[in-house]
Amino acid sequence: MKVYISCDMEGISGIVSSEQTHRGNKEYERARKLMTKEANAAIEGALVGGATEIVVNDAHGEGRSILIEGLNPQAQLISGWPRPWGMM
Ligand SMILES: [Zn+2]
Repeated sequence: MKVYISCDMEGISGIVSSEQTHRGNKEYERARKLMTKEANAAIEGALVGGATEIVVNDAHGEGRSILIEGLNPQAQLISGWPRPWGMM
């Protein structure tokens, strides 16, 4: 089973302010960690559910928020911008 996860920062647990979601703001680096952890929770759930291939799309801003070194290595990460399908 293939699983595709499009991950945006708005809506992540613990992110409650737009200040957290903009590069250069004091809390942005913490928000990136929260986003990476939430992506990992989704990956772990997918694996438990039988996923054999998982692709995570970093869909926030310019697609450079998820910390690749912290992401579960069983998933592939799409990051950077521009890309043809944006959040998809
Ligand atoms: Zn976003």
